[in-house]
Formats: sequence, structure tokens, C-alpha cells
Amino acid sequence: MWNQLYTNIYKCCPDNRIKQFKYKLIHNIVATNENLHKWKLTKSPTCTECNDTENYEHFFIKCKRIQEFWKTINGTLFLCDYQINIQTLKNIILGHNVLQRQYHELNVIINIISFSIYKSYMASKRRTHFNTLKLLCLQEIKFTTLHVKGRKYNLLKTFLINSQANTIDPSHIRTHHI
Ligand SMILES: [Zn+2]
Repeated sequence: MWNQLYTNIYKCCPDNRIKQFKYKLIHNIVATNENLHKWKLTKSPTCTECNDTENYEHFFIKCKRIQEFWKTINGTLFLCDYQINIQTLKNIILGHNVLQRQYHELNVIINIISFSIYKSYMASKRRTHFNTLKLLCLQEIKFTTLHVKGRKYNLLKTFLINSQANTIDPSHIRTHHI
């Protein structure tokens, strides 16, 4: 397992900000309400939106505030020929078959997705709602494209640019951007 974590941090994080985030994640020091409550920094461990305990599972996977975002991501990855459900906590923490070279690009994408969820939450006022997550994820993808170049990566970027109205239009992506 440590081999997987090490590979994930050092090979699949495009820059130091994402490496730092991943390090926090693995050491369970991301400031979710559950952790803040444990550290006696907040009164309640629950999510302000859903009333469920805001643990990692809730924060990255289940919270209803991020379902629209996940729908977009899942739809996009499907169009990029990934027949994999990446919306699991195991994928967020360990990555997907991280030691296999063929999944490198996917694991970079997973790290950018989880970093974007984290960043949009931390950036919102009093952490009660998420900033526009899709836009933020797009910014991250554009920013890190400087370091990462891959076909699926570019597809994801293109898709997010075209999905501002929450519509999936695969014909548009396929005919104009490949
Ligand atoms: Zn929630």
C-alpha cells in the first residue's frame, strides 16, 4: 500500500500544491467538519447541507452539493473511453491501479478532481457552500496542462469548457476537437 501511496504522490500529482493536498489527505488532516469537531474547532461534525457526518466519504463522494459535478466528470470520462467508476473513496485516496502505467493519466485526473473539490470548499465563505466547482476544476486542468500532456486529459479539458450549460454533447467534442 505504501508503494501505491508513494507512486500516487510523486508520480501522479502535477505540482506541489496537489502533492501537499494529497499528503494532508493521506494523513487525515483535511479540515472536514468531522476532523474539525475532533480537534474541538467546531460544534458539529455534520455537513451543513446534508446533516450527515462530514467525513472523507461524504466530503469527496456523497455530499449532494457535488453530485452535479460528479455527473459531469463521470459523463466525460465515459466519453473518454474509461469504463471505470472513479467516484469511490478508494480511488480518491489510493488512485486507480496506480502502479500500472496505462492508468497514469487517469490518476492525474483523479488527483486534480479531488484537489478541486477540496479547494472549492476551502475557498467558499465560511465553508458553507462550494464555489463553482466545475469552473475551478477547469482552471486546474488548464493550469496543470503545462505539465501534463495526454489525449484523455485534453479531452477532459475540452469537455469541461463545453459543459458550462450542463449539457453533454459528445458529437461536438468528437468532431471539432480531436
Ligand atoms: Zn453534504
